[in-house]
Amino acid sequence: MFNLISMTRLAASIAESMGVEAPEKADVSIPQVTDLVKNTLGGKADRVLIYNPDAIGMWLFQKYTKEFAPVMEKVQLTLPVATVMPSVTPVCFGTMYTGALPEVHGIQKYEKPVIKTDSLFDALARAGKKVALVAVDESSMALIFKGRDIDYYLMPYDGEAVDKALELIDQDNYDVIVVYNQEYDDVMHDTHPESEISYNAMLHQINFFAKLTDAVKEKWTSHDSLVVWATDHGIHTREDGHGDHGLYIEDDINITHFYGAYPKK
Ligand SMILES: [Zn+2]
Repeated sequence: MFNLISMTRLAASIAESMGVEAPEKADVSIPQVTDLVKNTLGGKADRVLIYNPDAIGMWLFQKYTKEFAPVMEKVQLTLPVATVMPSVTPVCFGTMYTGALPEVHGIQKYEKPVIKTDSLFDALARAGKKVALVAVDESSMALIFKGRDIDYYLMPYDGEAVDKALELIDQDNYDVIVVYNQEYDDVMHDTHPESEISYNAMLHQINFFAKLTDAVKEKWTSHDSLVVWATDHGIHTREDGHGDHGLYIEDDINITHFYGAYPKK
């Protein structure tokens, strides 16, 4: 079966958690997220860190649960989410950050035009929030939300992106930091989803999240912070043995998102 909570509901959930109006076309927020923020932070989050590792499907979490301990330990909420079709990167991130279906935001296949539809980045900027988008250069996340009133940090690869994000967390000048990573997706296409190199890439993404959230806990002590792990789609193995995604099958559609709320000290 497919998960019930749609990817279309993340954008409004983050906006509402910060007391910001949701993007124009966004689907409704997820009550578990807004309740977590209300109950743990006593109101709204004034800092948000979103980590976007590419292609970490739900079945990886089901099968390698113990490897996900460093993620689970940082959060209070684990949500089964269904991504949208076709389950490819620019389509899914387009939906994640507009809260709208692909036919609304306009990316309906693997292509990377700039999305014109109102996005979480626009909504945050309108509300006066300072936003940093830290992404691997030329990736979907580096391209499809260009031209917003936010700061872009386009980095050579995952490690540099995480280092930049750690630096920005330390400086404490941004209200929202979004970090995109892609190693797992890259190597699972080159090999398959459970190759040794893919397994190691999955561990890298897990450990990067742990590192980033540790930094939030240590540096953002005067803020009520929300941390989010939000992947874009799952993965499956093709008949020729290579990793792939894009289909309307559980392996590609079902993903897991994690939310943690850290009150100020
Ligand atoms: Zn992807």
